Amino acid sequence: MSSVLRPPALHYFLSLRVMSLASRMLASQHAKLAAVKGRDLRDPVAPTPLSFEDPQAFRVKSWWELMRALGVFRLCSFPTLVNNCGKVMTFTRTILGKQAFAKVLRPFVYAQFVAGETEKEISESMEKMSSLGLRPMLAVPIEEDLGESTGERRYNDNLAAMLECVRMSHCNSWSKDPMMQLKITALVSPELCVKLTCLLKEQQYDLDLLVGAMNSEAVVFPGLSDSENTHFLCGLRRLDQIGEASINKVRILVDAEYTYMNPALSLITMAMMKKFNQDDAWIWNTYQCYLKESRDLLLEAIRLSKDLSFCLGVKLVRGAYMDKERKLADKERRTDPIHETWEYTNNCYNGSLDIMLNLISQHPDRYKIIVATHNEESVKRAVARMDELGIDRNGGSVCFGQLLGMCDHVSLTLAQQGFSVYKSVPYGSVDDTLPYLVRRAQENRTVLQGIRKERDLLRQEVHRRVKEKITWAK
Ligand SMILES: Cc1cc2nc3c(=O)[nH]c(=O)nc-3n(C[C@H](O)[C@H](O)[C@H](O)COP(=O)(O)OP(=O)(O)OC[C@H]3O[C@@H](n4cnc5c(N)ncnc54)[C@H](O)[C@@H]3O)c2cc1C
Repeated sequence: MSSVLRPPALHYFLSLRVMSLASRMLASQHAKLAAVKGRDLRDPVAPTPLSFEDPQAFRVKSWWELMRALGVFRLCSFPTLVNNCGKVMTFTRTILGKQAFAKVLRPFVYAQFVAGETEKEISESMEKMSSLGLRPMLAVPIEEDLGESTGERRYNDNLAAMLECVRMSHCNSWSKDPMMQLKITALVSPELCVKLTCLLKEQQYDLDLLVGAMNSEAVVFPGLSDSENTHFLCGLRRLDQIGEASINKVRILVDAEYTYMNPALSLITMAMMKKFNQDDAWIWNTYQCYLKESRDLLLEAIRLSKDLSFCLGVKLVRGAYMDKERKLADKERRTDPIHETWEYTNNCYNGSLDIMLNLISQHPDRYKIIVATHNEESVKRAVARMDELGIDRNGGSVCFGQLLGMCDHVSLTLAQQGFSVYKSVPYGSVDDTLPYLVRRAQENRTVLQGIRKERDLLRQEVHRRVKEKITWAK
């Protein structure tokens, strides 16, 4: 069977956070649930309608954490500030200098969305999460965009950081079925990814060529200059080292980035799947449902996984780069690759979710999905379909993902109901995480509906504590 990405398929590739308190809380919640249902706690959890109205999730937070979250979400509700936060951060950094800027940002926005910089800080954050039933998905937010390319040495340093992430993900007491996120542009230059994306419009790339290069064969890729070819070989070997280090230990979820390089990222990810996913899905790809072509891309990946007999892991997201994608399409007078409305994006998300859940109900060992969203309706829909299709809540084929600092009420409710829930936990210096922080601010503007709810629940928790203190004082 050919492992060539066939030409008709190619255009698809174009867009291709207490501990003991928390444990007691969990135990008492389970006990209450069991008492209500009159059943043994070891019984499988019976389907219960999900409700995300309970501010309990925030009881584990300190006063400072509550006030910080309220403050950050308030800031995110000023569109002008959010739209210009990249510029505001760059300007402030220039005025204050790198160190003072880091000191200012660290206790606020950074601490809300980033676990820290050292292994000790990360482990503290992960232990709290683990005690709440949440699983780790560490993310090293090293990424590059066009014009930011660094040399081979820097990419090798990034490789060392990623391998360290693999080690941390599985070598700690909090490591339960760990996942980690990987940005290919930390290991292969964005310029090369863009060039490959252009080449993919015109010529076939056999996945076996890429697999050969991962296996240290001296492959010559058509269309690339000598230096590009050498860099690609080095990049593929770096990715191979990550695959080898993580297989049977950590699931690697490759991030989707911009449409002008996604096809190359997907090509590389598919080659990694072909090499490492023969028996289980260790390498996963991301599908951004805000893209008009995302469903076709997903269907193409399913076809490829069947043809080449590899297991397919899917991270289903709506997409984080909407503003930039739209501006770029406008500037280049191209058709906007993003759905016209949020509703279209939502339909696409639901449709793709259904496709994957149906497949999983038939082949739970070959197909896996992480429903990576903060949207309560999407989560409820996935849960309802899982119950209808008889998919095991904690079987590992379907899991849920939210970002650190966002929608803890959704994550904790799901975990309390017996689902596999991952928190995406970025870590690194203030400097390395700046682009990530800008995207989170922008995203919290677009998920205003959710944030308002989160803000309401945070406020309810503040009121509850104030009332409790007043009652104590009396
Ligand atoms: C674990 C995890 C991993 C992630 N990995 C990636 C990744 O690899 N790549 C990536 O791009 N993102 C990634 N994300 C970010 C994800 O894309 C955002 O969290 C998501 O877009 C926010 O959507 P939602 O479903 O949570 O919320 P919702 O409020 O339901 O949706 C907001 C999203 O809808 C879309 N949208 C909003 N307005 C419109 C409109 N007018 N027209 C069309 N679409 C619109 C946008 O994508 C916006 O972000 C990840 C998220 C998580 C939780």
